[in-house]
Amino acid sequence: MGGEIVLIGPPGSGKGTQARILVGSDGWLHLATGDLFRKHLKEGTPLGKLADSYMSKGEYVPDEVTVDIVRQRVRETPAAVRILFDGFPRTVPQAEALDALLAAAGRCVARVVLVEVPENELVERLAKRGQGRADDSPEVVRKRLRVYEEQTRPVVDFYQRRGLVRCVDGLGDVKEVASRLATAIS
Ligand code: ADP
Repeated sequence: MGGEIVLIGPPGSGKGTQARILVGSDGWLHLATGDLFRKHLKEGTPLGKLADSYMSKGEYVPDEVTVDIVRQRVRETPAAVRILFDGFPRTVPQAEALDALLAAAGRCVARVVLVEVPENELVERLAKRGQGRADDSPEVVRKRLRVYEEQTRPVVDFYQRRGLVRCVDGLGDVKEVASRLATAIS
């Protein structure tokens, strides 16, 4: 199967870890908007500072800013390289913009994988990670989970109407989940 893959999951679902395993083989680009924003922040760019003013509160970075960074990355990617989107699109306008920018590059979304993990497990996992990331404090985690339900659930419905969504159980060890994911995209 050709085409691009979109990985969706709530904060703490392990989608970043799984994305890195999936793209371990050549011929894939792992495009994670959260990673791009954190890289800009580390480098102290204006975009990094702008993104951080939202990230640190658990809010989404504005769609125009996010779509621009994705469009640029897609343009730089050779046609032979497939793209795994991780953490994008997170809003319906982003999903619509993705369709348009992929079409302009002769690409399309072939499959959407939803990594499902019950909320109590998510809260527990993020609390453990709490030392590592600035946006993993309990209040910000609660906000991120709420924003996910409000703004990103509708993205799942958007793709479900097109029959593109496969759900994967995100509970269990990393390898187990990875093999379920491999099946979901085959
Ligand atoms: P998580 O999925 O655990 O929240 P990410 O690294 O994917 O972690 O995202 C961290 C933060 O980066 C988000 O809370 C948000 O502020 C910002 N962000 C990442 N991707 C997007 C996006 N597509 N649209 C808006 N904001 C985003």
